[in-house]
Amino acid sequence: MSAQLKTAECLLCGPRTGNEPLLGGSLCRCLTCGFTWTNAIDESTRDLYNDSYFVDGGYQDYFAHVDQWRYEAGRRLSWLLSGVRPRTLLEAGSAGGFFVEAARSAGIDASGVEPTRACVRYSRERLKVPVQHGYFESTAVKPVDAVCGFHVLEHVDDPRKFLATARSQLVPSGWIALEVPNIDSSAARRQGTSWPHLYLKHHRWHFSPQSLTRLVESCGFIVRRCDTIFTRYYTRPLRRLRPSALAKLAADYRAVKSLRMSDPQCGDLLRVIAQLPESSMSAYA
Ligand SMILES: [Zn+2]
Repeated sequence: MSAQLKTAECLLCGPRTGNEPLLGGSLCRCLTCGFTWTNAIDESTRDLYNDSYFVDGGYQDYFAHVDQWRYEAGRRLSWLLSGVRPRTLLEAGSAGGFFVEAARSAGIDASGVEPTRACVRYSRERLKVPVQHGYFESTAVKPVDAVCGFHVLEHVDDPRKFLATARSQLVPSGWIALEVPNIDSSAARRQGTSWPHLYLKHHRWHFSPQSLTRLVESCGFIVRRCDTIFTRYYTRPLRRLRPSALAKLAADYRAVKSLRMSDPQCGDLLRVIAQLPESSMSAYA
């Protein structure tokens, strides 16, 4: 039987505030600020980013969906480049390497760090992109203009340590770009434990636009952009016509009365671009 790893305190408020159970006790919510986290994570998942995560785990067909990952990578890069022009970039948790590939195609000196060996091999051998094997928090790199983490922060043991590492690996005025599920989305509220992005087995932290902004700013960054997107943002155009996608579209429309794919608060996925101040190293070292 595997051990349960319990988190007793709010990541934002610390140990002095109480919390309440949510969704039948699966989640805890801070009574002071509303931040939400998974009540107990199976400790065996701490070692999940070995080959089994992508090959034998929930992502067993990961490598069968290359076109989808390339589409997502292109969307993420367009979003990033609409506000930031990095010359160098590091992706923490680069998975199969598709975002690194897209960034390099756009002329950015991009590389990745990834703990899953199968993904590192795929990135290097199939995509021919530079990816180091390991965890971002313990990997030394040269300072870069931008650090990206797409669907990483909700998994890590210590989001503050992740953000401190990003800070230490950025040039002054450098950028961080993050994407995580949005626990305050209309779909999360509507679907409860059935919301596919909840993923309680692996997601320790459940961010909202407010809590992610507060966390990122408490770690020394200035949030420049924060919005949310609905799942269809990453659905390729023809697939948006599938019945399941149309049903989701109808439900999202009922919630926000708009067909826009982004929203300040209600989309399934939350994304933030934040910047270090010009001289940040001393204040938060
Ligand atoms: Zn709190």
